Amino acid sequence: MLVLVINCGSSSVKYQVRDTAATGEENQVIAKGLVENIGSAEIPTHTEALDIMAKALVEPLHGKTIDAIGHRIVQGGDVFSEPVLVTDEVITKIDELSPLAPLHNPAHVLGLKAAQETYPGVPMVAVFDTAFHGTMPEHVYRYAVPEELVEKYGVRRYGFHGTSHDYVTGIAADFLGLDRSDFNGVIAHLGNGASVTAVEGGQCLDTSMGYTPLAGLVMGTRSGDIDPSVLTSIMMRDPEMTPAKMDSLLNKESGLLAIAGNNDMRAVVEAMEAGDERAKLALDMTSYRLAKYIGAYHVAVGGAKALVFTAGIGENSHQFRELAVERLGALGIKLDAEANKVRGDEPRLISTEDSAIPVLVVPTNEEKAIAEATEALVA
Ligand code: ADP
Repeated sequence: MLVLVINCGSSSVKYQVRDTAATGEENQVIAKGLVENIGSAEIPTHTEALDIMAKALVEPLHGKTIDAIGHRIVQGGDVFSEPVLVTDEVITKIDELSPLAPLHNPAHVLGLKAAQETYPGVPMVAVFDTAFHGTMPEHVYRYAVPEELVEKYGVRRYGFHGTSHDYVTGIAADFLGLDRSDFNGVIAHLGNGASVTAVEGGQCLDTSMGYTPLAGLVMGTRSGDIDPSVLTSIMMRDPEMTPAKMDSLLNKESGLLAIAGNNDMRAVVEAMEAGDERAKLALDMTSYRLAKYIGAYHVAVGGAKALVFTAGIGENSHQFRELAVERLGALGIKLDAEANKVRGDEPRLISTEDSAIPVLVVPTNEEKAIAEATEALVA
């Protein structure tokens, strides 16, 4: 099946056409690309962006037609716990969840409608970043705040990167020769945005992101966990610190960027190796926070059977993996220095034989996961 996978942001559309019947990543990916600057004079709306995409796809498709479209949707709230076929009602519900993901869901709705215009009659599936986390029990997802906030604002932990955590969980279980339902583990998805998930019996028990993707780990430009009174206290004292400014400060000007002056992990590691003290502090903070979550989740799942690294940093930065795992000595988890440095596109073991549990690198592939989910629903 030829599946077009679309990830619509407010100013860009990322896309990939995949042939789910082909073998191997190189053969599955028929075309991919990015249309940027939506909102500019040349590309005023998502409709023009999808037209540009459709034109760019003519040649690589060689006359074949798209069988189905899979859309990545960030926030499914507690409405969507699995992928769904897109109907007008589904689009309305995704729109209604916009207050919970103001940067993402409105753009997804524009993308869904534009795709309906560009590819009339082609079945579409919405795949939600939050869906994998739908199995968290109430004592995990609930915040200790009055019920009123839950009812009025939907305040609770939702979690994100679910498509990746789900995909990587399946591959890791396979790699270890376990039934997915026997897999307890900790999955660290470390990209520009980063989150760690506690998996019990192959399902999500807990995850570090919360009501929004700001919570949890120290990220490229996001603070991660912070005492909420820091925000209220500053906002009460400084009349210029509006909620919008505070939001931007914590989402776009914090994290590695605030401490090391750069949000790119590669650059921060290089700076540390060159003796930069701020870069060292940033890496100490980032790896410490991650190790703390891993320790907590190891306990939460009743003893993880594996620790798994994925996404840009998790897959590529052997230095960062080493900094994080060094802090797990009390759990008996040990990296094999040589295996940790090996690079590749395949799942691999990077711990020593006497490590208490295996440590794996499992490359994520959200597009593949979305294409598979789309095919499963449409077929
Ligand atoms: P996202 O999808 O969240 O935008 P990615 O998963 O692509 O992010 O990860 C981006 C991060 O991965 C950046 O911080 C980048 O520096 C880091 N990264 C990519 N390659 C390497 C590498 N070889 N060494 C260290 N970090 C890397």
